[in-house]
Amino acid sequence: MTALEHLRSKLAEISDLNGAASVLGWDQQTYMPPGGVTARAEQLGTLVKLAHEKLVSDQLGALLEAAREEVSGLSGDSDEVCLIRVAQRDYDKARKVPSTLVAELARAASLGLEVWVNARETADFAAFKPALQKIVDLHRELARCLGYEEQLYDALLDQYEPGMKTSEITRIFSELRAGLVPLAQAISEKVASVDDSVLRRHYAESQQWKFGLDVLEHFGYDFARGRQDKSVHPFTTSFSVNDVRITTRVDERFLPTALFGTLHECGHALYEQGISQNLERTPLASGASLGIHESQSRLWENLVGRSHGFWKFFFPQLQGLFSENLSSTSLEGFYQAINRVEPSLIRVEADEVTYNLHVLLRFELEVDLLEQRLSLDDLPAAWNGKMKEYLGVVPPNNTQGVLQDVHWANGLIGYFPTYSLGNLISVQLFEKAQRQHPSIQEEIEKGQFTLLLTWLRDHVHLHGKKFLPAELVERATGQLLQAQPYLAYLRRKYSEIYSL
Ligand code: ZN
Repeated sequence: MTALEHLRSKLAEISDLNGAASVLGWDQQTYMPPGGVTARAEQLGTLVKLAHEKLVSDQLGALLEAAREEVSGLSGDSDEVCLIRVAQRDYDKARKVPSTLVAELARAASLGLEVWVNARETADFAAFKPALQKIVDLHRELARCLGYEEQLYDALLDQYEPGMKTSEITRIFSELRAGLVPLAQAISEKVASVDDSVLRRHYAESQQWKFGLDVLEHFGYDFARGRQDKSVHPFTTSFSVNDVRITTRVDERFLPTALFGTLHECGHALYEQGISQNLERTPLASGASLGIHESQSRLWENLVGRSHGFWKFFFPQLQGLFSENLSSTSLEGFYQAINRVEPSLIRVEADEVTYNLHVLLRFELEVDLLEQRLSLDDLPAAWNGKMKEYLGVVPPNNTQGVLQDVHWANGLIGYFPTYSLGNLISVQLFEKAQRQHPSIQEEIEKGQFTLLLTWLRDHVHLHGKKFLPAELVERATGQLLQAQPYLAYLRRKYSEIYSL
């Protein structure tokens, strides 16, 4: 056996353990009875520990070194060289963080979550503050262990968006903010011109479910290699390239919840189902980063699913299923309703235009917190100040302000910017695909998505985690990651809807 073959077999074992942990996680959020919770935590803990031990072993380090020599003649973008590079990165990161810190972070996150749930209910930031301070302090320590060249925050960001720098995001986001604030402001003066009450009628769950499945099939989601179930929070999980599952939730009083949730998760799942079979059971069999992953979900949810062309084909079908609600609504009226914009307090309910302003605000605050330019005592006021400045609205309490998102409580710092990066990348990819295949638009209007999906397969999905996100964007589009295409898309679309 060569060192590379030996390395592959060790990495496959780690991949199997992680896959098994994902099955248990999926079951926990879909079908597990409440009584299973304690045993499940133990089972997951054991699997994660075994995978970690295998990853940080001296043997794996030696195999990486020996395998690197064996592939020294191969090109930099071959599967073999990429595999060794990514496995080495995972190995180095895992070895740099002492297990005591890993355990402390896990404890702080679990305590943080518990305290946050109560603090959020009572809008009591002071009650959450000590737990959050602990999480911030531990993340400063984590960043020092992981190491960074420019800024402390880089190390945290790199866990979710490999290779991305805080300075780069700061530059892109300031361009984004400069374009978004006036656009949101202009629309907010015309909020009343679009009415979305048609979406708030009663829509039977079974019919919503049926429509969602129909769209999934049209998009090209492979039900022989996946399935859809219900969960409280929608998610996508992958146990293998050939078993990629999604979940959704249904609100009978608000049509967009299941509809766009399903399209969003489908975008994530198409990515995972499209990864090359050659990468199966390796660390390359996943998305390049959270940002790239989100670009896929946003592309199918927003650029396709909230487009006029898409509804040209699907609206008559939706009308057929819900004739009582929709027979007197025009395609135009429905298109406007699903694209209604209104500056509001809660990120997860935000529209395409204002969503990124919520993300920008969190990014700026978490960088300032980590780099000690902002103290937790001043955090709620800083949050409210930015809400006023960017969106023109101020939370009446901390539940609708600084306490609304679970991420910080759960120890996810460095994660928020990936949401907006995904939005920016989605437009760059979609426009490049359309330049290469101008008939993509005509296909969408006929409910066909093969050209688009094939382009995404070839330029994004197949490669799995082989390339850094910025590199992948450049290979696929010939451009650097940037804000202008996204801003231009929003201006075009919403100037028309709101007659700006
Ligand atoms: Zn997503």
